[in-house]
Amino acid sequence: MKNDKPFIIVGQGLAGTILAHHFLEVDIPFEIWDSPETHFNSSKAAGGIFNPVTGRKLEQTWLADELFTYLFDFYPRLEKTLNTRFFFPMPLFRPFANEEMKTWLVERKDQIHHNYLRWESDGVWVKKAGWVDVATLLQASRAYFSSIGMLKEAEYTDFQAIFCEGFHGQQNPLWSCLPFLPAKGELMEVRSKEPPQDYILNKNGFLLPLGEQKFKVGATYAWKEYTNKITSEALVELTDKLGLMGCSQFELIEQKTGIRPATQDRRPIIGFHPTKQSGIFNGFGSKGVSLAPYFAKQWTSEILGNTSVHSEASIRRFYHLFSV
Ligand SMILES: Cc1cc2nc3c(=O)[nH]c(=O)nc-3n(C[C@H](O)[C@H](O)[C@H](O)COP(=O)(O)OP(=O)(O)OC[C@H]3O[C@@H](n4cnc5c(N)ncnc54)[C@H](O)[C@@H]3O)c2cc1C
Repeated sequence: MKNDKPFIIVGQGLAGTILAHHFLEVDIPFEIWDSPETHFNSSKAAGGIFNPVTGRKLEQTWLADELFTYLFDFYPRLEKTLNTRFFFPMPLFRPFANEEMKTWLVERKDQIHHNYLRWESDGVWVKKAGWVDVATLLQASRAYFSSIGMLKEAEYTDFQAIFCEGFHGQQNPLWSCLPFLPAKGELMEVRSKEPPQDYILNKNGFLLPLGEQKFKVGATYAWKEYTNKITSEALVELTDKLGLMGCSQFELIEQKTGIRPATQDRRPIIGFHPTKQSGIFNGFGSKGVSLAPYFAKQWTSEILGNTSVHSEASIRRFYHLFSV
């Protein structure tokens, strides 16, 4: 995409916000458009957790070393720029699911072990985990972009732009051929005296301490409908999760929902349309907090003519799906 004018970034969710900060760092001119009234924002509902360990077998997440090294550099730097605190490294504990799973994992400890794990008799501690207060990051960034005259609060309807539309991207005719697989998610914020306040508990869900006896509890996954309406089914499921994590006495503060912009191959989609003056930065699924900084840096570098975006994340892997 050749562009002598400033880029238009569509969407001030987590993806658009982080991309815009990377453009600012290298003086790529842009304007960021956002319209939460017409297109609901999902980032504000996020748990915000970053965690380099995944799955029952405690594997490292995709590109864990690269992503986590960079995010520990990027977010503190952005906190200084915005003069706001939103990055909270915090230990995360994963208890063994049951005795059978414990035996299975402990017998294979030598093969499974890696640098992000510390083993205890009842579970594992995950290093380099924590959470980002995404709502605060977005709010502070919005004020910042506005103060430097780069924010436009309006719906964008043309095609010459970089689209960071989250879940709404699949309804945009430019990108409708791409293999999105969105997943609705809900979480609740509660107040309780019961759970631990100094680490994240991860047991078939998460229990994240926010301070002052407040916690986020999440999250559900659903593929039935894609509205931003909270549901009573999710409230029951979240209450059950909380019970399984040892907390029965709580006061519900708020229930939140959003749609994760996931893809069928569980990789982001980044790059320019094969024939139009349009770009996309999307598909961050349930891991926007850890994926978006690293890939914003890679794509910015590609736009400047330096390194290329990782082949598993580049839109080039889908060029055959666009009819010409
Ligand atoms: C319940 C839940 C829990 C989650 N927990 C975590 C977690 O713990 N850790 C983690 O890393 N991720 C988590 N996620 C996932 C994370 O929220 C996403 O990866 C990320 O927020 C996606 O950001 P986005 O910017 O792509 O989309 P969005 O946040 O949806 O942003 C898109 C923006 O684009 C705007 N927009 C769209 N179209 C237009 C248009 N045409 N004109 C103008 N504006 C437009 C919208 O208004 C919106 O502001 C969770 C998600 C949910 C739902």
